[in-house]
Amino acid sequence: MDKGVLIVISGPSGAGKGTVCRNLCQQNPNLYCSISATSRSPRQGERDQESYYFLSEEKFRELIEQGAFLEWARVYGNYYGTLRQQVEEKLDKGLDVILEIDTQGAKQIRRNSKEAVFIFLLPPSMEELWKRIQGRGTDSPEVIKQRFAAAYQELEEIWKYDYAVFNENVPDAVKNIEAIILAEKCRIKKDGDILSRFF
Ligand code: 5GP
Repeated sequence: MDKGVLIVISGPSGAGKGTVCRNLCQQNPNLYCSISATSRSPRQGERDQESYYFLSEEKFRELIEQGAFLEWARVYGNYYGTLRQQVEEKLDKGLDVILEIDTQGAKQIRRNSKEAVFIFLLPPSMEELWKRIQGRGTDSPEVIKQRFAAAYQELEEIWKYDYAVFNENVPDAVKNIEAIILAEKCRIKKDGDILSRFF
């Protein structure tokens, strides 16, 4: 059985990564959305082990020491990370795995995985991004400012990604990402043996 494809999705806060990834995984049984660990507190409506694994800073640092993370980063003052075992198990079963992570985390995956696909999700415009970040209503003014400044920094990383998808609306963004995944599955890998299943 072929191993699944590892798909990294980054983009500024407010680009709609969460909604797009959720829709992708609900509509495609072969796709698994990785559940990250974080040391930030749950927002209203977020549930442990569904939105994130919510951990204390101490527990998070313990897991870093143990090498439990495929990648991890500090984002807006909190720890976020992808649990290695969870992802590798799914890939080995042939499932495609989506990591919705920031650009620092993507850099670590790029260093360690030749096969991963990197997608940058963009809002339709900066103006729209500002509206979305403000409109969320769950963050303090200080955090809103931080997120908008960070969005500019994140945009500078776009050149390191394989694909850019504009999130004008969720169904179209989902369709575009599905097409990218399909194309990746048909890609001839230079060090793979494409004909092994044929003979
Ligand atoms: P939020 O607090 O809004 O849920 O997420 C803040 C940022 O952290 C987002 O840009 C999100 O992509 C990023 N993030 C979420 N999970 C991970 C993770 O496991 N690793 C890294 N590096 N970033 C993450």
